[in-house]
Amino acid sequence: MKSLHAFLKLLGAAPRGWTAGLMVLMLVSSLTEGIGLLLLVPMLGLLGGGQGGGNPVVRHVLEVLKAGGLPVSLISLLAVFLLLVSFRSAIQYGRERLGASLQHLVVDELRLRCFEALLGAEWRWIVAGRKQDHANLLLTDVSRTGVGFNFALSLAAGLASAIAYLAVAMLLSWPMTLLALASGGLVFWLLAGQRRAAFQLGRKLGEASRNLHGNVQESLAGIKLTKILGMEARHLERFRQTTGGLKQEQLSFLKSNSGSRALFQVGGAFLLAGYLYAGLSFWNMPLPSLLVLVMLFARLVPLFMTLHQNYHQWLHAMPALYEIDALLESCEISAEPASDSGEGRMNVREMISLDDVTVRYPGRELPALEKVSLQFPARTTTAITGPSGAGKSTLADILIGLLAPDEGELRVDGEPVSGSRRKDWRREVAYVPQDVFLFHDSIRNNLLWAAPGATEEELKIALQNVAADFVFGLPQGLDTVVGDEGLRLSGGERQRIALARALLNHPAMLILDEATSALDLDNEARVRQAIEKLHGDLTVVIIGHRLATLEQADKVVVLEKGHVAAQGSWQDVSGGR
Ligand code: ADP
Repeated sequence: MKSLHAFLKLLGAAPRGWTAGLMVLMLVSSLTEGIGLLLLVPMLGLLGGGQGGGNPVVRHVLEVLKAGGLPVSLISLLAVFLLLVSFRSAIQYGRERLGASLQHLVVDELRLRCFEALLGAEWRWIVAGRKQDHANLLLTDVSRTGVGFNFALSLAAGLASAIAYLAVAMLLSWPMTLLALASGGLVFWLLAGQRRAAFQLGRKLGEASRNLHGNVQESLAGIKLTKILGMEARHLERFRQTTGGLKQEQLSFLKSNSGSRALFQVGGAFLLAGYLYAGLSFWNMPLPSLLVLVMLFARLVPLFMTLHQNYHQWLHAMPALYEIDALLESCEISAEPASDSGEGRMNVREMISLDDVTVRYPGRELPALEKVSLQFPARTTTAITGPSGAGKSTLADILIGLLAPDEGELRVDGEPVSGSRRKDWRREVAYVPQDVFLFHDSIRNNLLWAAPGATEEELKIALQNVAADFVFGLPQGLDTVVGDEGLRLSGGERQRIALARALLNHPAMLILDEATSALDLDNEARVRQAIEKLHGDLTVVIIGHRLATLEQADKVVVLEKGHVAAQGSWQDVSGGR
């Protein structure tokens, strides 16, 4: 029941018309299949000189044909039969194409929903999870669900055919059909354990695949460290173990699949021989009916086997769908309020302030920030300094509107930045962290990412303003592609591009989190001059320790263990250090 519910839920994501169309095609396909099979009886009867073995249903079919003006001859029966087969093939072709399109539509929809849910989740929720797990879910789990869904669609189509076969078999001999159904039911019951195992194996495969994803991404991210430490062999061994785990789970599933196939084949052959014997010896069936019946059962056995395998595959994929459901549910619980306030842009005319802000991270005894109250007057520069772990980055996340405080408030000109306003506020803030992120794309596109409408001239000025004119000296200038995460550029070069990108958007507030730390003194001075030029235009918060930065700021805030230890001009807080 659970599996049917899961299947219908997935199907529910598809447009109604598509699903209805698919159902109609399945139904017509199985109807033509049944009629085609039924026509075989009189055909075989004619071949044997009789008229269909005297079965009342067959007689009825022949009467219908006669009423339609068709002579009951082998030729006309063969013609109708061929027509039916061609018609059915055309329908099957349409059904398969529609099924494949439906599968892609459902998978794409699911992947988009997952990605949208991830993007819409609270920052706290995002950082609490593993990036690798989310990647595995978006790539592997969604694909596994898609493959499983395809098997479930084939299962539905196969079931429709099986019903048609059984209906024809019932018309030819209901006692034999009931016997076949009972024995089929027995085989299905015998395989219950394997179906349970398929579900469990699917769950283990999910775990193994998550491990592999995590391992690959972590190993690639840490490849430099691995080489420096000479840990290649150890990493290789860990990788071997993880891939071994995945292989084991896949082989276990294949083994269970092959086992059920073998059982079906042997059991089917026994049952078929039994029916033939029973049909001839006990029920004295006429040969044409018996032959068609045997042919039906001979087709039903592999069909049931395929149906069972499809079901097996669907059960195997279901844990992936459950993972997706769990993620969607969790994202929904932790979703950020949508930015639909309609209250427009947030400008800073007077002041950005923090009122008694407290932030706690799960699993941490002490709060990262505790009752912090600060004021950032508009168009001034504030430097935040303090030892590592003092809460500086957390403070930056609060100011950006990325984190919602557990207690207290962020306010812009007195208006609380909470609920949907947090998203509105984020659009007004530019943030440059220490580890800047650049897309694997041209410098131009990296800049346009923040300001899609910027002109060539604006891009040029933005780069010049932050001492990033080295870009124009590169052979391809703005069209130079920066490598994965911008690794082909030095740390300082990446930071200057990120700074230009941040300023292009004309933010109301600029937050630099240790952003000039990778610059040499000369370039740092140039960036500082650029920031100095912004003085009076923009509210700037600089997190850092460089003396020049601290001296230049209008106000310096010293954070210690989540508290404001001192604030004022550099002379005030340094006490003549
Ligand atoms: P700073 O930027 O001054 O080095 P942070 O704001 O990064 O300080 O961290 C303040 C405290 O909060 C530290 O004790 C740090 O370990 C903890 N912390 C920061 N981020 C998280 C997180 N995502 N989960 C748990 N603890 C965190």
